[in-house]
Amino acid sequence: MWSTAIVGLLLATACADGAIGPTPDLATDRTPSTSVAAGTQLDEELRHYSNERAMKHVEKLARGIGPRVRAKPAEWKASRYIARKFRSYGYETKVQKFSVDGGTSRNVVAWWPDSRKYGLVVGGHMDTVRRSPGANDNASGIAVLLEMARISADREPARLVRFVAFGAEEFGTNGQHHNGSQVYVNRLGKGGRKWLGGMVSIDMVGNGRPLIAATTGMAPQVVARTVYNKMRNKVAMSYRITCDCSDNGPFERAGIPGVFLWSGFEPNHHEPTDTVANLEQKHVRRTGLGFRYFLKRVDLGMIRRFRRVR
Ligand SMILES: [Zn+2]
Repeated sequence: MWSTAIVGLLLATACADGAIGPTPDLATDRTPSTSVAAGTQLDEELRHYSNERAMKHVEKLARGIGPRVRAKPAEWKASRYIARKFRSYGYETKVQKFSVDGGTSRNVVAWWPDSRKYGLVVGGHMDTVRRSPGANDNASGIAVLLEMARISADREPARLVRFVAFGAEEFGTNGQHHNGSQVYVNRLGKGGRKWLGGMVSIDMVGNGRPLIAATTGMAPQVVARTVYNKMRNKVAMSYRITCDCSDNGPFERAGIPGVFLWSGFEPNHHEPTDTVANLEQKHVRRTGLGFRYFLKRVDLGMIRRFRRVR
């Protein structure tokens, strides 16, 4: 997420149970009803969102690991933690490595077995700026991302969504930002960029209300509008056209509709004070409940509608 000064300047801008390896750590509130064979009807109902689990992820990233600068060991540690969590829910994962700032950064990509390749990307960045533990920017987004993966594992929406933790979102010594998401978009290839339904970036969602559904306006706004219209049935939302401030940027620049969920600026942004203690847990919860409401309604018809607007 860009430094406040620049943005300020601009604004105003995946059978069940043992069918796929070890029993997934899902704490299911209902046992999965069907196997994960291709074409089998998956359970529609999502599990309940747990803010307790989400906050455990925030603790691990912001307190256990701390500042996670791109292409440095702490970002790598974060990527391993996140990949392990995805796999523990039953997802398949791959790590996309890429070079930045004279080192290696990574994206962690997770998908449910037999899921569609070009549905909706739901993602968030795992890196932080120097000296900031990044509880809000962006352990809060990664925590909601992991919870969305857990609650939709072996459920219908998992067949249409790819969960991605991006590296190197923050500006680096190469003077660039959003390197991980740009790599993801590049590696989609021409066909993949044409077919991908859309992208949601969950970035800095733990300190502020209403929750903002923001888009750069560079691509059709159908995903931003749909996410906004669904989620506002559940939580207080606002809609905004804003700067290329998060990982939705590279997708929208490639013509792929995107949205960036964000709780707005707060004084700890990019500061050493962006700690677990300064996070508004109820705002993390608000985002989790609101996005679960949207995710539950993701279906093939919606993805086709997103594709049609190009
Ligand atoms: Zn951020």
